[in-house]
Amino acid sequence: MEERGSPDGDPARNLEQGPEGSETPIQVVLRVRPMSTVELRRGEQSALHCSGTRTLQVSPPGGGPDVAFRFGAVLDGARTQEDVFRACGVKRLGELALRGFSCTVFTFGQTGSGKTYTLTGPPPQAEGVPVPPSLAGIMQRTFTWLLDRMQHLDSPVTLRASYLEIYNEQVQDLLSQGSPRPLPVRWSKARGFYVEQLRLVECGSLEALMELLQMGLSRRRSSSHTLNQASSRSHALLTLHISRPTSQQVPPVDLGEPPVGGKLCFVDLAGSEKVAATGSRGQLMLEANSINRSLLALGHCISLLLDPQRKQSHIPFRDSKLTKLLADSLGGRGVTLMVACVSPSAQCLPETLSTLRYASRAQRITTRPQGPKSPAVKPPQQVEAELLQLQEENRCLRLQLDQMYTKAPRVHGARVAWAQRNLYGMLQEFMLENEKLRKEMRQLRSSRDLAQAEQHVLAQQIHELERRLLLACSLPQQTSATVCPCRMTPAASCHVLPPLCYCYHLCPLCRVSLTHWACPWRECHAPQVLEPEAPGHISPSVRPPPWAPPTSPGSAKPPQERNHSDWTQTRVLAEMLMGEEVVPSAPPLPAGPSNMPQVLRGGSGIPNQTPRLETLTHQINSSLNPSQRQPQPSEDTQSPGQGLSSY
Ligand code: ADP
Ligand code: MG
Repeated sequence: MEERGSPDGDPARNLEQGPEGSETPIQVVLRVRPMSTVELRRGEQSALHCSGTRTLQVSPPGGGPDVAFRFGAVLDGARTQEDVFRACGVKRLGELALRGFSCTVFTFGQTGSGKTYTLTGPPPQAEGVPVPPSLAGIMQRTFTWLLDRMQHLDSPVTLRASYLEIYNEQVQDLLSQGSPRPLPVRWSKARGFYVEQLRLVECGSLEALMELLQMGLSRRRSSSHTLNQASSRSHALLTLHISRPTSQQVPPVDLGEPPVGGKLCFVDLAGSEKVAATGSRGQLMLEANSINRSLLALGHCISLLLDPQRKQSHIPFRDSKLTKLLADSLGGRGVTLMVACVSPSAQCLPETLSTLRYASRAQRITTRPQGPKSPAVKPPQQVEAELLQLQEENRCLRLQLDQMYTKAPRVHGARVAWAQRNLYGMLQEFMLENEKLRKEMRQLRSSRDLAQAEQHVLAQQIHELERRLLLACSLPQQTSATVCPCRMTPAASCHVLPPLCYCYHLCPLCRVSLTHWACPWRECHAPQVLEPEAPGHISPSVRPPPWAPPTSPGSAKPPQERNHSDWTQTRVLAEMLMGEEVVPSAPPLPAGPSNMPQVLRGGSGIPNQTPRLETLTHQINSSLNPSQRQPQPSEDTQSPGQGLSSY
């Protein structure tokens, strides 16, 4: 079984590639310290076996399959400090720092696994006694390399150093001139997290730099416990600020601020430890808890940074001072190298496996390195040209702005005029239309009132005529009156007979004058003009009315008195004339078909009943006053016998 390792594997080749702008994974190398004399004395066996230069095999003590881990480089206990320095790729980070990148090297692993040894060599044997060059760690070797490299650069390099420790979650300056005191960790957009009032010491020589390192190491808290005689009780961060203030760079505005440029930070983490295993008590236990807490926060951040959705998720860098100060190195714009340190002892295998897994995962963390963003100083002629260009642009913009201001009122006025024209226009149209409708309505009402008045008069006249007609019918008939011989001829459908009012009081059959008698159905039938019929032809329309009593020819029997229902049709006429008004609607209805009643066509015209009324009046008067007979047409001269003979 093999766990995931570096995708590329060759740190040297990876480090040769330019990091700017691209996703750059954290470089991870593994260092396995040799078995200590104590462990060898106990007869412990190594559970770790290097396979090649990049793979580590882990053999579980109880048997079972080996577990393989693959890293950019795996350096076993036989490898020297110089081998580690060369293999880990820290020189490339130094180069990047010289180019302005922010680079970090940090060690990670269980307490006693060799982190401090890897970075700074074995603990000093005594005060002021330097570490032998052969045992010097990555830091001293990098200092040496860097100072040598700086001397070969074209431009001078300014080197400043700061050194701090995070002890019990407090940041303390290891280079402070007075007694160390807690320093706040702040954040700014430009600098990210930074330690306020941290002393920066300019180091012009390797000796000065080594001296600062020794001073910090001597100040850093360490204690002895079961697993380590010189166990670091704090996380230590030594940062080299590299600036190259050439003529193309702007010097820092504030001398207290770190110069704009690259950074190379060395982080020696305190190791995680099991309190039971280290036998820590009291202050040691407090320190261990604090260390474990901050390492837990670091592990949490690493886990979240490995999340594919991490860009959307929140990384809790603020959970500890350590993660704050490593935020840029882990998830930001830095270039990072992790040296994972493990103990080969089988007793430490659980912690070793934990470290290996964390280190494997850390290889998948990527950053987006960014170089310095300091504005470059431009030649005077270029500045002058840009200034002129900006002035011209400024003038054009002002001109456009003035034009906009001058145009604005016109545009505004046009919009208002448009709105007014449209709104007021619509309003005026509505008002005119309303006025027109009102006028039309007034005309219609006037017509309706006239029609109503006319109807009223007509109804009164009809009522009077009815009254007079009823009175006439109830009077005893004159025996001398002319009797129509056709009454002798009963007909079943006499009710369809045409009104007698248009026959000039002649019997349609025999043409005998019937001035004493008026047809009560006269208004129920459509007016028609009786045409002379052919002799012997009896039109169904001129048959005698059904109410005409069957009489024998020559009978002078007067017509019987008519009952009230016989006059229903006359009442229908009255109802028609007195009918319910039809209220005209607006707009006026278009002219309808000719057969449509005029009243329904807006009421502008009321059927003129006057001629018919006059005729009716005349007939009634004639019935009531037989002496007022109209001049008889020629047919009147016919005798009833003549009429009958025509059948
Ligand atoms: P850590 O810092 O991880 O707690 P140290 O660096 O203090 O561990 O190392 C613990 C002990 O192991 C020290 O005494 C150190 O000298 C020793 N040691 C660590 N790594 C090596 C190594 N590669 N070769 C020889 N001794 C080592
Ligand atoms: Mg240590």
